[in-house]
Amino acid sequence: MAKVYLTGAGPGDMELLTVKALRVIEEADVIIYDRLANPDILEKAKSGCEFVYVGKEDGRHIMPQDDINETIYQSALKHETVVRLKGGDPFVFGRGGEEAAYLQERGIKYEIIPGITSAISVPAYAGIPVTHRGVAVSFRVVTAHESPNKKESQIPWENYKTDDTIVFLMGLHNLAKISKKLIEIGKPSDCPCAVIAKGTTKDQIVVVGTLADIVAKAVDVPTPALIVVGQVVALREQLQWFEA
Ligand code: SAH
Repeated sequence: MAKVYLTGAGPGDMELLTVKALRVIEEADVIIYDRLANPDILEKAKSGCEFVYVGKEDGRHIMPQDDINETIYQSALKHETVVRLKGGDPFVFGRGGEEAAYLQERGIKYEIIPGITSAISVPAYAGIPVTHRGVAVSFRVVTAHESPNKKESQIPWENYKTDDTIVFLMGLHNLAKISKKLIEIGKPSDCPCAVIAKGTTKDQIVVVGTLADIVAKAVDVPTPALIVVGQVVALREQLQWFEA
């Protein structure tokens, strides 16, 4: 009986792959993968393993989600061990839930292998703890990707007023809108803010500023990138360890 492993690949640093993820990657007959922060992971597959790229890049889908679901399903009809490999964690803006539901409805066995999400690990590699005693008792992870065709924002900005730390995924091209909105809802314009690109890899780029100046500072930052807003960003000054 075939089994599909909906597997988190971690944020980039190859060693942030879980032991369990590595095991199923080594056993896989087929690996269906996105644009991964670290494609070297695929080299761990056995010889003869088939690779299927269904990548998406900040919403620009190479393959629509329905087709991805069907591709996974069809692979499970043909192969014993199917690995669906996704960046970070499969259930954090990874649409892993939809893929699991599709398989469930068709009687295909699956397992979820959680991964280290970029939302926490990328700030950590920049020396930014998402919570910190006396500084932040909560953090929120949100997607800031919205279809450019959408007239009214679906993002409940008002709810973010009292959050200590906010991590925005898929938000780089909306950075100007994000910083403007946060100032509008009452966040101080000197609130510390960081943009971190290619986090946990040797190409990691960290830009630190405030809500007022981050847009100007972060021009030309490549993707994948996330945005951290909150006083915890200031801790980087002391806790920067990765670049050192
Ligand atoms: N499931 C993934 C998130 C998918 S959404 C996870 O748990 O990490 C993709 C977004 O994640 C990107 O747009 C970016 O905001 C963020 N991201 C993923 N890897 C990253 C990295 N190495 N550095 C910075 N941001 C990253």
